[in-house]
Amino acid sequence: MKKIILTGDRPTGHLHIGHYVGSLKRRLELQEKGDYDEYYIMIADAQALTDNFGNVQKVKDNVLQVMLDYLAIGLDPNKVTFFVQSEVSELTEFTFYYMNLVTLARLERNPTVKEELKQKSFSNNIPMGFLTYPVSQTADITAFNATIIPVGDDQLPMIEQAREIVRSFNNLYGEILLEPKAVLPENENAFRLVGTDGKAKMSKSLNNCIYLSDSEEEIKQKVFSMYTDPDHIHVEDPGKVEGNTVFMYLDVFSKPTDFAKYLPEYKSLDELKDHYRRGGLGDMKIKKFLNNILQEFLRPIRERRLELEKNSDKIFEILKKGTMKARKVAHENLIKLKTAMGINYFNN
Ligand code: ATP
Ligand code: MG
Repeated sequence: MKKIILTGDRPTGHLHIGHYVGSLKRRLELQEKGDYDEYYIMIADAQALTDNFGNVQKVKDNVLQVMLDYLAIGLDPNKVTFFVQSEVSELTEFTFYYMNLVTLARLERNPTVKEELKQKSFSNNIPMGFLTYPVSQTADITAFNATIIPVGDDQLPMIEQAREIVRSFNNLYGEILLEPKAVLPENENAFRLVGTDGKAKMSKSLNNCIYLSDSEEEIKQKVFSMYTDPDHIHVEDPGKVEGNTVFMYLDVFSKPTDFAKYLPEYKSLDELKDHYRRGGLGDMKIKKFLNNILQEFLRPIRERRLELEKNSDKIFEILKKGTMKARKVAHENLIKLKTAMGINYFNN
């Protein structure tokens, strides 16, 4: 069996550090390991339109921004095929046939869709396109026979939905589709990085993000206004580490070597946490530490991104080339799908 990787992002804004730890880091590891036959990264503009249909320009503009983020972190067009979802029209055909294999009740039960519906202002007027986006995600995956899907854990219900559709299809029409598997981050704390507001997951739509493209000043300002423990008022007060955004970020981003470099009075994160719990450690100090770590991580990405920005034509060329390849593959697989269903009339 071929090893095919597929993943993607919605072009609803620049990519943020939640994307990095939740999915991009894994993508880079997979790229470097090289243990795959094909590797696709899709910019899910059609999916983004399901809740941004009134703002096409925003989605369109962000296609380039997301590509800049990909290349700035080191994803390599020689190793990965990048493509735009709406330019591969075969995907909508896959979706159309899969719609028959899913019930409305099943879609309404999807926990991620439920959570996202709560955040949007559709009230009782839920667009069908939005409710059915897990079906189109199944199309995106199966159109390329992908089985390895590096994503954050909010995507698990989508992958489960895809597996169910694959099984239904195979039962009805013959074993031609493969069941995909999610590949989660190694660090459990990165499954769903919380936003800087400490409330929901960091998400482009919620305005609680530190972006890969943020300036030094923006990062600093966001870190210093982060939510910590509301009862930790004076330095000497005992503080809570659990649910404290700064510590949640330190769990994900700090490395043992950061202590010697930026906070030599502590040997490890456990020691720092103990002191915070006991009292006597101020928020300023932990925020400064986190700021140093994030600045060091984001500086080279931002600098590469600024360079890449100067040549956007080249980026669209990469995307066009990848999209042409994706079209060809999706087309071949669509013929197979329709043949399995018995709806090929003219080319048997
Ligand atoms: P939107 O608000 O438009 O849905 P988003 O920030 O949720 O945007 P997506 O494009 O929906 O981003 O997600 C892209 C990928 O990044 C998915 O694999 C998702 O699991 C992962 N991801 C998104 N946000 C986080 C997060 N806060 N922590 C970990 N992974 C995340
Ligand atoms: Mg999302």
